[in-house]
Amino acid sequence: MTGTSSDTALQLDDLNAGAYGFHVVGAHYGIGDKASLYCPVCFGELVPVADDAGRRFRHFVAQDEARCPLSTLSYQPDVPGVHRRRDVALEREQRGVFIENWQRHFQVMRRAAPSLTVRRFIYLVGYADVMNLWSYPALEQHDLPYVLLTLAQFMRAGAMGGRPVWVRFCFDATVRDVGDLWTHRGPQARFFKMMYNAPRETPFPTSRQLIHYETVRRDTSFLETPPPWMKRADVKEFQRFVASGRQSADPGRADTGTS
Ligand SMILES: [Zn+2]
Repeated sequence: MTGTSSDTALQLDDLNAGAYGFHVVGAHYGIGDKASLYCPVCFGELVPVADDAGRRFRHFVAQDEARCPLSTLSYQPDVPGVHRRRDVALEREQRGVFIENWQRHFQVMRRAAPSLTVRRFIYLVGYADVMNLWSYPALEQHDLPYVLLTLAQFMRAGAMGGRPVWVRFCFDATVRDVGDLWTHRGPQARFFKMMYNAPRETPFPTSRQLIHYETVRRDTSFLETPPPWMKRADVKEFQRFVASGRQSADPGRADTGTS
């Protein structure tokens, strides 16, 4: 890794004068001292924003700045890919195990995103179906709530202080394809929750609306707990979905779905 001399940092900040920058939550995950701090989300090198008493940062490399969820101005940020050829037997087995435990998965997702409805959950399972998520041989069932939350992209998340907010989840940069979760060696990929103000000029929020973000600890033992109580209407709705067999979903909608 290249170190950032204070000269280059200064130059960069001069070029980007007036830029926002972002607070680095979990900066202790960074490597080394402040002069070589790394973004906890994209792993890109960070530099402090000038005239901000070292509280805010920008990415050193413009491409990181353009792509990282903490700084991107795109309302369609990168999502991990799901690239797996369909394996019918594996799919039947792994999807079957998921469906058996769907209430536990749903509860974990609700804990992270209380606004999640069974209807949207059903949509996400349908999306996982068309993307062949169930065909990864090393798939770990206890990661699925987090994978589905990532695939959900931006969701409305009720209100904070009377103002509507949105939420989005993402893994750190070790997960470029969902399968990386199960093949990557080294520390477990971190999972982030990002809260946004409602977008004004774009269909979905960009980093300009980012209120805060946090690392969500992934629960790996929820499948061993009793299934949660659920509303009868929700259970019936999910049972109808399962009975209706494979539901088709339009992959394009998952990137932009909001309901
Ligand atoms: Zn970053």
